[in-house]
Amino acid sequence: MTETERPHLAGLPADRLEALVVAAGQPGYRARQLARWVFKEGCFAPEAMSDLPAGFREWLAAHVDAGRLRLLQRREARDGTRKYLFGHRDGTLESVLMPYGEGLDGPDRVTACISTQVGCAVGCAFCATGLAGFQRNVTAGDMVEQVLRMQAEAGHRITNVVFMGMGEPFLNYDETLAAVHLLNKSVGIGMRHLTLSTSGIVPGIRRLAAERLQLTLAISIHAPDDALRDRLVPINRKYPLADLREAMVDYFEQTGRRLSVEYVLLDDVNDHPDQARALSRWIGDLPVHVNLIPFNATDTVFRTSPPARVRQFREVLEAAGHPATVRRERGAEIDGACGQLRRRYEEGQPVESGKA
Ligand code: SAH
Ligand code: SF4
Repeated sequence: MTETERPHLAGLPADRLEALVVAAGQPGYRARQLARWVFKEGCFAPEAMSDLPAGFREWLAAHVDAGRLRLLQRREARDGTRKYLFGHRDGTLESVLMPYGEGLDGPDRVTACISTQVGCAVGCAFCATGLAGFQRNVTAGDMVEQVLRMQAEAGHRITNVVFMGMGEPFLNYDETLAAVHLLNKSVGIGMRHLTLSTSGIVPGIRRLAAERLQLTLAISIHAPDDALRDRLVPINRKYPLADLREAMVDYFEQTGRRLSVEYVLLDDVNDHPDQARALSRWIGDLPVHVNLIPFNATDTVFRTSPPARVRQFREVLEAAGHPATVRRERGAEIDGACGQLRRRYEEGQPVESGKA
């Protein structure tokens, strides 16, 4: 058996864990003990799984990958946001932990942001991940391990997961959905506390609609017309705004779940009141919540919208009856946006750990 064929514990649903345990000659109930170590304790060392027999622990060490990620960097921002850079045998990936409430000492909500791909093929004009191009897909086990690693490292239960790190989840659909189910069933995070974010891959939205899950689907719009969206989110040439809206209507009809619309505000590019009005017309009567995202500056021509224009954009939407919030900027000083930390790390620039 080669390295790559070893099963990855964090990627195995209950039935496959049980099959593994039985293949090792152990009674089936040990699968529940093993699941507790992996999914509840975040333990990645078989030798530390103290209620398993020594022979089984040795078998595990020889036959499975308990963990596959190596922590390369950790940075913490003043607001408590922690950014993690994990090494994997073929690449690096980023994850972010965001405490809401009173910080990591007593948060009522802790949100993990995880990566679904190393790099991304969509190539949005303002996104550091997109600039780096696509390297490879992340497995379901690696997605779940990002959550478990951060949970163990921070010592706080993660209550929400957003798939908004590097990568386009719907261009890695099967692994992403497998991770959704593992996080829900094995880690115990409620479906309503999981959010998938897509740049608008229409076949993925339609496929997910048919699964009728109660998770939240966020669509990254960023422009109210096709000409501008073609430029900012190039996948728009394949799935233009009219098709995207139709898929969103279908999603709402099948799941009954209100969608989120994400809109990164770029100075003088997509942040004018007439563009807010055009966005409002495009939304029409579709029940959505608009998340306005302050742009986290990357090595591009784009700049962050001034706060007054952000406020005005929000007011235009609200006045037209579309609930809109401005996302709190998190960890900007630690390269909070997806792809930024990795880019800097791979360029050999300093990314010291600890408080930024
Ligand atoms: N590929 C998916 C999910 C990952 S990106 C998607 O595009 O939806 C998650 C969100 O972060 C997207 O809305 C994306 O447009 C936004 N984003 C990317 N780069 C950013 C930056 N530099 N500042 C602020 N938001 C950014
Ligand atoms: Fe990919 Fe999302 Fe970045 Fe666009 S914004 S390049 S889809 S990760």
